[in-house]
Amino acid sequence: MTTLVITELWVDTDQCLAHFLCVDLAPIVFEMRDDEASTVSVRLTDFAVLSAADTNAVLRAAAHCPVAAIKLRLNTGEVLDARNAIVKRLAECGP
Ligand code: SF4
Repeated sequence: MTTLVITELWVDTDQCLAHFLCVDLAPIVFEMRDDEASTVSVRLTDFAVLSAADTNAVLRAAAHCPVAAIKLRLNTGEVLDARNAIVKRLAECGP
C-alpha cells in the first residue's frame, strides 16, 4: 500500500470566496493575503515538515472548501480537491 503524501498545495484564487474557513481550520498553512485581492495564500512549500495533525487539518480544510479551490498534489502525481471523495475520506482518517 502506497503512503499518500502531499507534495504541493495551492489555492485557485479565481475560485476562492475569501471567507477564510481554511485559515480557521489550518492556520499553519493558510493565511489571508494582505493586499487588495483579499484572498488566501499558502504559507508553506515543504509539506514534509507538517505533523500528522497539521496534515489532517489541511485535508479537513481542503475537504470543506465549498468551491474546491484548495488543490492538493500527492506523491502519486494525482491532483485532488473537495470534489474528490478521497479527500473527505483522508480527512476523516486523521489523528
Ligand atoms: S475555504 Fe476555499 S473558498 Fe474559503 S477561503 Fe479557503 S480556499 Fe477560499
